[in-house]
Amino acid sequence: MDPRMVRSILKPMWHKVKMEDSKTRIALAEALEALDKQIPKKPNRFFNGIESLKICGCGGDAYGYPSVFNYCPYCGQAIDWE
Ligand SMILES: [Zn+2]
Repeated sequence: MDPRMVRSILKPMWHKVKMEDSKTRIALAEALEALDKQIPKKPNRFFNGIESLKICGCGGDAYGYPSVFNYCPYCGQAIDWE
C-alpha cells in the first residue's frame, strides 16, 4: 500500500485514541513519523557561492553529484529528485 494511503488511514486514528492511552498514541506517532520518511520529499537547494547544493530537510550534508541516494544517508528520508 502506498505510504500516503497508509498515512491517511492512521492519522485520523491518532486523533481518536484517548489521551490516557499514551502507549497507543506514541506507537501511532512513531508509525506516522516512519511513514513520512517513506514519502519522497524534494531536497532544499543551497547555493554555496560556487555550486547549487541539495540538502535534506534534516539539515544533513549536501548530496554529492551524481544524485545516487534514494534515501537520505543521515535520516532515512526518501528523496524526490523529480
Ligand atoms: Zn535527512
